[in-house]
Amino acid sequence: MPHPFRWQPGEGQRHATLKPRPKGGFPDDAQIETLCGTQITVDNSDVAWLWTTCPECNRGAHELAGTPIVPG
Ligand SMILES: [Zn+2]
Repeated sequence: MPHPFRWQPGEGQRHATLKPRPKGGFPDDAQIETLCGTQITVDNSDVAWLWTTCPECNRGAHELAGTPIVPG
């Protein structure tokens, strides 16, 4: 069963969101709410996927997935 969240870079970090991703992904500059409670502007550039993971979203995602958080 797939997890209910998606990773999406925006605002300088990779966040997780519960919003259903539209076919083809969120469009650039779309505003979405993330697990950490922040509203981010979507950035789909290649470098955006290399940004660090938002620690709050990481924690929330692991809780949803029921898996332990791996340090580092
Ligand atoms: Zn976040």
